[in-house]
Amino acid sequence: LTQLFRPLDMLGWVYRTIRQGLIDMAAMFQLMDTEVEVEDTPGAPALVVRRPSLVFDNVVFGYDPDRTILHGLSFEVPAGGQFAIVGPSGAGKSTIARLLFRFYDPWQGRILIDGQEITGVTQESLRAHIGIVPQDSVLFNDTIGYNIGYGRGGASSDDVLAASRDAAILPFIERLPKGFDTEVGERGLKLSGGEKQRVAIARTLVKNPPILLLDEATSALDSRTEQDILRTLKRVSEHRTSLSIAHRLSTIADADRILVLDHGRLAEQGTHGQLLSARGLYAEMWERQQAESTPGVSEPAQ
Ligand code: ATP
Repeated sequence: LTQLFRPLDMLGWVYRTIRQGLIDMAAMFQLMDTEVEVEDTPGAPALVVRRPSLVFDNVVFGYDPDRTILHGLSFEVPAGGQFAIVGPSGAGKSTIARLLFRFYDPWQGRILIDGQEITGVTQESLRAHIGIVPQDSVLFNDTIGYNIGYGRGGASSDDVLAASRDAAILPFIERLPKGFDTEVGERGLKLSGGEKQRVAIARTLVKNPPILLLDEATSALDSRTEQDILRTLKRVSEHRTSLSIAHRLSTIADADRILVLDHGRLAEQGTHGQLLSARGLYAEMWERQQAESTPGVSEPAQ
């Protein structure tokens, strides 16, 4: 029985600790999802970001010693670039995000942000510079204001207000009888997928990071909400460096560059137009998804 309750205890502890502003969301993910694998080098300096470029330089990585997931992956996102990563399920897309956040260290190769190798700086400073809009964000049984504000310890109500406006969730909050003091989550107001995603965007904006990781930020939404959210994300990505992990190619067709990952290797890269002309894996995935989204085509004949 003790075993059974341990995860619940853990969640409660994590929540209280966050409530006290002692750890941030990234640390929570680390506690819940992964074992603590990496440690700061003694005396490591903080990451200093002036021009937030991202470099993967010949990165080799696997979760288990006998199974390599990334096979010498190299790419560069210049400061201010809006890049996307696509590829079949299991290709290693989310692994790239986990390595960038330093939940794990590469077996070989280097990952650099603004020229600094991320293994050589403090994890706290690294994570302070990266905002994640995850597939499915966690909401706490607390007020909507709290849920937005904990993106950064010490955020003022003005910060929360400005972020909510930029994430286009302010009109929704203002219509609630208790506004920002409305309780949400399991025991409060249930939010739709789109509203939750906007809370996640607002939370990230409170943090105001120079680097954004968008993990298929528009999954499970109807197409109008999806278009609205995409517009919002596009606006908030301006003046930042962003890397979007996408399953549906239509959401990232206007990225500056699309990296096509296959079995942990970079199979192709280019703009949407260049990749279609290349008639490779991307073009094949695009055609398949177009066919699936055309009503009737993928349905068996009656
Ligand atoms: P999807 O599109 O399905 O989300 P992905 O391209 O993001 O897939 P990853 O999540 O990066 O793929 O996973 C790459 C490979 O690593 C998969 O084969 C997966 O089974 C394996 N993997 C992922 N996480 C772990 C883990 N914690 N331990 C062991 N193997 C893992």
